[in-house]
Amino acid sequence: MYDAIIIGGGPAGASAGIYLADKGKSVCIIDKSTFPRQKTCGGLLTVKTLELMESSPIGKLDSSLVLNRINRVSLENRGNKIAEMRCQNDFYLVDRLAFDNSLIEKYRAKGSDITEGKAVRAIKDNIVLLSDGTEIKSKYIIGADGCKGVTQKYVKREPVACAFGIEAEIPAKYVDNSALLLEVGYFKDGYLWHFPKGDYATVGFAFTYNRDFDYIAWFKSYLNSLGVTEDLKLKGAFLPYGMGSSTVTNGKNLLLTGDAAGFIDAVTGEGTYYAILSGLAAAESIMTSKPIEAYKKRTASIISSVEKSCTLVNKFYDNREALLNRLKGKTRFLSWFCDVQVSRNIYDFSLTKLSAAYMKYKLFGK
Ligand SMILES: Cc1cc2nc3c(=O)[nH]c(=O)nc-3n(C[C@H](O)[C@H](O)[C@H](O)COP(=O)(O)OP(=O)(O)OC[C@H]3O[C@@H](n4cnc5c(N)ncnc54)[C@H](O)[C@@H]3O)c2cc1C
Repeated sequence: MYDAIIIGGGPAGASAGIYLADKGKSVCIIDKSTFPRQKTCGGLLTVKTLELMESSPIGKLDSSLVLNRINRVSLENRGNKIAEMRCQNDFYLVDRLAFDNSLIEKYRAKGSDITEGKAVRAIKDNIVLLSDGTEIKSKYIIGADGCKGVTQKYVKREPVACAFGIEAEIPAKYVDNSALLLEVGYFKDGYLWHFPKGDYATVGFAFTYNRDFDYIAWFKSYLNSLGVTEDLKLKGAFLPYGMGSSTVTNGKNLLLTGDAAGFIDAVTGEGTYYAILSGLAAAESIMTSKPIEAYKKRTASIISSVEKSCTLVNKFYDNREALLNRLKGKTRFLSWFCDVQVSRNIYDFSLTKLSAAYMKYKLFGK
C-alpha cells in the first residue's frame, strides 16, 4: 500500500511526486504515456512559476530548457496594434516535451516508482485499476490526469467547462522573434498567440470549445495569411476554461490538481503555474494529519483566482471593442497588467483596483 498514488505525470503530478518522494513518502506516478511525451501547449512560463519551482523541492529551472526569454508583448485586434509593451519581467519559453520530462527525471532521481504506458481505468475506494487489469492500493490518490482525465468523475460536481486549442510550430522567419504576440480580435472568448522560441515559434489559438467550428480550416487559412507554405503538423488539446472548479476532493482520499481540478487562468490560459502550485499543495496536505481539509484550505485562494480570471475575461469579451479602444496606446497600464497581474501574482484584482491602476498609469504615466 502506497502513501500516495499520483495519476498523471504532467507538471501537477510530477511536482506532487517530487515533494512527497523528497519527504520520504512511498509514492507511485502512473501515466498512460511514456516520457518524454508530447503535450500541446504554448510553453510560456511566468517568473512566478520559476520562483515557485525554486522555492520548492523541484528546484531551479534548468537554463538549458529555456529556448527564449522575452519581455516585449504586442497586443493586437484583428491585425491592428493596440499596444506594444516592454515589461520588467521576462516571459520564459520552453518546449513542454523537454520541460515535463525534466520534472519526471527529477522525480525518478528520488528513486520513487513510476508506471508508464498504462492508463488508469477506474478508482474504487483506495484501489486504482489500470488498463492491463493491475490493481494498486494507496492511502491517498492525487488526480493529475489533465482536462479530460478519469479522476474528475469521482468528485461530485458539474463538469468544468473546456476550451479547445490548436497550435503548430512554424519556422521563425514568419513571425517577429522579438515579441510575444497576443491577438484578441478573432474569437469571442479566447485569443491567438505567437510565442517565438529561437528557430521556430509556437503559434496557436484557443477559445471556448465549439464543435461546429472548423478549427483546422481556420488555422490553415491563418497560417496561409502569414505566408507559411510548409505542410506543418497541427496539434490540438482541451484545457479547462470557466467556473465550476470549487470542489476538488471526494471528501475522503482523492485530491484533484492542475487541469483535472480546472485550475487555469482564464485571461491568459496559463495553467502550468497552477498545476505546480496545486501539485505541491496536494503533497503538502498529504503530509498533514487531515489531508482533505488541508487541501481545501490550500486551494481556496487558487479557486478564487480562477473565478476572478473568469469574471474578468467575461467582462472583457462582453465589451471588447469599447475596451480595446480605451486601451489603445496605454502601454504603461498594460505593462503594469503584465508585470503585476500576470507575471508576479495570481489574480488578486478587483475591478475597482484595475480601474484605479488604469487611471494612475494613464494620467501620471508612472
Ligand atoms: C493549446 C494550449 C496551449 C497552452 N499554453 C499554455 C502556456 O503557454 N502556458 C501555460 O502555463 N499553460 C498553457 N496551457 C495549459 C497547460 O498546458 C496545462 O494547464 C498544464 O499542462 C496542466 O498540467 P497538468 O499536470 O494538470 O496536466 P497535463 O500536463 O495535461 O498532464 C496530465 C497527464 O495525465 C496523463 N493521463 C491522462 N489520463 C490518464 C489516465 N487515465 N491514466 C494515466 N495517466 C493519464 C497524461 O498522459 C498526461 O501526462 C495550454 C493548454 C493548451 C491546450
